[in-house]
Amino acid sequence: MVKLNNIDLTIIGGGPVGLFLGKEAKKKGLNVVIFDREEKVGGILKQCIHTGFGLQVYNKNLTGPELAENLYEEVNNLNIPVYTISMCSGFEDKKLYFYSRIGIIEVESDYYGFALGARERNRGNLFIEGDRPTGIFTAGFAQYLTNILGLKIGNKIAILGSGDIGLIMARRLKIEGMDVAGIYEIMPFFGGLPRNIKQCLEDFEIPLYLSHTVIRVEGKDRLEKIFVSEVDKNFNQIGEIKEIEADTLLLSVGLIPEIDILRKNLLFDKSTNQPIVNQNFLTNIPGVFLLGNSLTIFDLVDKAMVSSLNSLDAILKGKREINNNGIKLKTGNLIKNFIPQIIEKDSEKANIYFRVKEPIFNKSLILREDNKIVFKKKIVALYPSQMEEITINPEIIEKDEVILEII
Ligand SMILES: Cc1cc2nc3c(=O)[nH]c(=O)nc-3n(C[C@H](O)[C@H](O)[C@H](O)COP(=O)(O)OP(=O)(O)OC[C@H]3O[C@@H](n4cnc5c(N)ncnc54)[C@H](O)[C@@H]3O)c2cc1C
Repeated sequence: MVKLNNIDLTIIGGGPVGLFLGKEAKKKGLNVVIFDREEKVGGILKQCIHTGFGLQVYNKNLTGPELAENLYEEVNNLNIPVYTISMCSGFEDKKLYFYSRIGIIEVESDYYGFALGARERNRGNLFIEGDRPTGIFTAGFAQYLTNILGLKIGNKIAILGSGDIGLIMARRLKIEGMDVAGIYEIMPFFGGLPRNIKQCLEDFEIPLYLSHTVIRVEGKDRLEKIFVSEVDKNFNQIGEIKEIEADTLLLSVGLIPEIDILRKNLLFDKSTNQPIVNQNFLTNIPGVFLLGNSLTIFDLVDKAMVSSLNSLDAILKGKREINNNGIKLKTGNLIKNFIPQIIEKDSEKANIYFRVKEPIFNKSLILREDNKIVFKKKIVALYPSQMEEITINPEIIEKDEVILEII
């Protein structure tokens, strides 16, 4: 077994967030190592060949691979050790273990940043009746097959769910000459970013059917047909069932943060089912941070990268544990989820990240202690796909509990 120690910060996951935090920590003089299970770092960026990345961090509109390249170049120039093909297998007794090509690596460091990304919901997470043919893929896997392996995944495509990956793939496959029948979204509003609705669907005349879902699939070996129905607000079928010819069905129905390695040690917030973290994304495990999509699903990679500076701030101050006497943040009206759950009173500022349950127009976001409003921000338009961020000074809160809600 190879043993590594005398490390300040070990980063697990060399996606954009892990690479970004690694280089920023090294610039502050910390001894950093980065691990990734794949041969090349860059995470999901490697397969995102469209532009829209790096706007905040590099002030450039880059493709995913270009952003990954820029980040890796900086990491490399700073001589940060990067261990690839190193799969994190466990965290026991303050030590991390990796399976790697040089055998098992045991790492002990002061701080650990878990930036493992997220995995896609698949057919097993949904309940679609019917046969079990080939031709049903998650949208991100279809993106990998198309953009990395250069494979043609089908001819007649239908997409379930209007998440960003599905929208981006609808445009990509249409450009490649495939027939994209439409996107079927069970909610009465779309799930992706408004800019992707415009740039990926409207500009390419791909129809979006809101309040619609796929109720059955049919096909002997390969998918042949899907059956689609309109649904009411309780998701009960209404109207006629439509039969649509499709040899490929892509699922774009959400991402699940990748935290299984730590799951048994983490404490969760029951109202949102998210791990409890403080304003630095410190978990209940001393010295352990959750970052990027492993913490919560970010809509924009730049925001995910920059948010990791909250953790660097704690490391530079030598802080390893959550102060449980901090202010507890709770969900209120129309808030779907948020981080952090704990804001410590002695912190200079706290960034709160949240998503709403449904599209919101001309309302206000408030922080409320019982009936006293301590913070208010006007919201013109906000969609569930967008993560919103506010920065507060914890001094404005006097009590130990505060509610985040839309009024
Ligand atoms: C299809 C798609 C399109 C997107 N389009 C855009 C866009 O246009 N603009 C935008 O701003 N954002 C976009 N995003 C979002 C953006 O890509 C994510 O927010 C970002 O990739 C999250 O970064 P991350 O570092 O948290 O995770 P990831 O990029 O997922 O990186 C996680 C890394 O952890 C590694 N890892 C996982 N488990 C282990 C383990 N056990 N051991 C070792 N290593 C491990 C993985 O190999 C990976 O390299 C898109 C996302 C997807 C999926």
